Formats: sequence, C-alpha cells, structure tokens
Amino acid sequence: MADPVHSLTSPLLAGSRRALAKAITLSESTRPEHEAQAQALLAEVLPHAGKSVRVGLTGVPGVGKSTFIEALGMALADSGHRVAVLAVDPSSARTGGSIMGDKTRMPRLTVHPSAFIRPSPAGGALGGVARRTREAITLCEAAGYDVVLVETVGVGQSETQVAAMTDLFVLLTLPNAGDELQGIKRGIMELADVCVVNKADTDPPAAVRAQTELRAALNLLTPHDAPWRPVALRASALTGEGIPEVWDTVQDYAGTVDLALKRRVQNGLWFDELLREAVWRAFQRGLDAGKLRELRAEVEVGRLTAVQGVARLMSG
Ligand code: GDP
Repeated sequence: MADPVHSLTSPLLAGSRRALAKAITLSESTRPEHEAQAQALLAEVLPHAGKSVRVGLTGVPGVGKSTFIEALGMALADSGHRVAVLAVDPSSARTGGSIMGDKTRMPRLTVHPSAFIRPSPAGGALGGVARRTREAITLCEAAGYDVVLVETVGVGQSETQVAAMTDLFVLLTLPNAGDELQGIKRGIMELADVCVVNKADTDPPAAVRAQTELRAALNLLTPHDAPWRPVALRASALTGEGIPEVWDTVQDYAGTVDLALKRRVQNGLWFDELLREAVWRAFQRGLDAGKLRELRAEVEVGRLTAVQGVARLMSG
C-alpha cells in the first residue's frame, strides 16, 4: 500500500465503506510498518471521531443477537442513521474462525447502503482484540457512522472490555429467565444498562415473568444513587415488536447519563491499560528470562512466597 494514510484519509472521512474496511484491515495488521501507518491514520481522523452512540450488546449464543442487531440496525438505517456493527469474539482467536459478526448472519443489513458490518478479527489475545475494536470504533465514527453496535458473545470474557469502550451495554436474555438467570454470570448483569427479554413471541406470559424477575434483580444490583437505573424490556427480534422501545431507551440513557464524562473516564482507563502493557513489554526486554523461570518455579513448589519471588526479581 503506497502511503495509505494519505490515500485513505479523504475517502474515509467522506464515508467510503471501502476505505473504512481498508483502514480497519490496516489497524488489524501486526506488521510494524502497518502499525505505524494505522496509528498515523488514527491520529489524523481522531478529531472527526467520537460523534456516535456506542452500544455494546451481549447474550449467550442462540439468544438472537444477530437477528436483533439486524432488526434494530435495519430500523435505524431506514430512518436515516448510519449503522456500524463490530464484533468482539475472543473464541475466534482460538478456533481461527470467526463465529460472530459474520455477514451471512445479517443478510439484509449487510447490503444496506447505510450499514457497515465487520466480523471479529481472527487471532490475537483478548487484549489485542479489544485494542483493535477500539480503533475500529474510532474509524467507523470518522467515516460518519452515528450508531456503532459492538456485539460480544455472552460468556464472560470480553464483556467487561466491551462495556469499557461503549456508552451503554445491552444484555439479551430468554423468556425462561429462571434457568437463564443462573446461566448469566452476575458480573454480566452488573454491566447491563438495558436488559431485553428476546423471543417474547415464543411464550408471552413467560416473557412477562422474566421481565419482572430481571427488573427485581437489576434493582438489587443497582446502587440507590446511580445516575441510571437499568431497564428490563421485552422484544421479539423476529417480529420486530419491542425494538423501537429499545432504541427509545438508548436515547433516554444518552439524555440522562453524562456521556462526555463517561468517555473521558474510559479514555483515561484505556491509556492506563496501554501504559501497563508498554511498561511490561519494556521491562520484559531487560529481564533475565532464566532468573524469571527459576523464581517462578520456586514459587510454584512453595520454596518462596509469590511476594518474595517478585521482590527478588525486582531487586535485580
Ligand atoms: P445469536 O447466536 O445470539 O446471534 O442468535 P441468532 O440471531 O442467530 O438467533 C438464533 C435463532 O433464534 C435463529 O433461528 C433466529 O431466527 C431465532 N430468533 C432470534 N430472535 C428471535 C425472536 O425474537 N423470536 C423467535 N421466535 N426466534 C428468534
């Protein structure tokens, strides 16, 4: 790619999907020259980013995430929004294949001129996937997407990371909440700003019960002085029922919570995280790997406490 920064910036800012796809590919590359180019591009477009509603979305496989995103995304795109869908799937790093954000899962949204769908990048540790997703959000915003949906599979690994890069977090659940609540990790419930009982069409009375139970659980989890009290809704991604109410709630949230402050806090935490990584990498370069292995082995067999081992390593 000849000077990609120069050749991508204008079309990206003009909203070209092709340029956006190329820019994201560049930011996912681990080749040092690509990394440098991606960072230059990001710096160039950063002033144009930040103007979207960023929605994280999770739920166990089969709950209806892709159907829901397609329904919500189509409604938004048809009413003049530009919608980007990104996926975070740490399991794709292990399997080598992406099971999320797969374009065939959202056939109508994929071909909508106002939508952009990007599957989860394959390969790399969760930290790397999180970094690339943050960068992809920035690039989508610079390309004029005003709604960014970040999908993650509800198994508890990537939700915290996605919650830390989005404005609000939506948890999809099923009408059989009794069983469902046990399957959802409490940690994920605590992250949720909006819970949606999906597939309400399959068993309406059960969906109402599930909504009531969720509401009670969310109330228990939310501190009294919280600026936002998480909401429990019902919807059917298949029939489209309840989808407009989900979007109304997102807008309520955006009008209630100080998003600028939230993003400042998130940017700060993001900086801390990158700094920790950079310091660790720099430290590792100067480290005596043999000594590290030795000390770790002594800690493993109980000859040293972990505190002693680390103290010896740090004292050189
Ligand atoms: P994901 O794995 O969470 O992305 O789930 P999918 O969106 O692929 O949905 C799994 C299955 O549930 C598909 O067969 C969908 O058609 C179906 N489904 C999704 N949402 C609904 C819904 O609201 N009602 C009904 N009846 N089926 C749904």
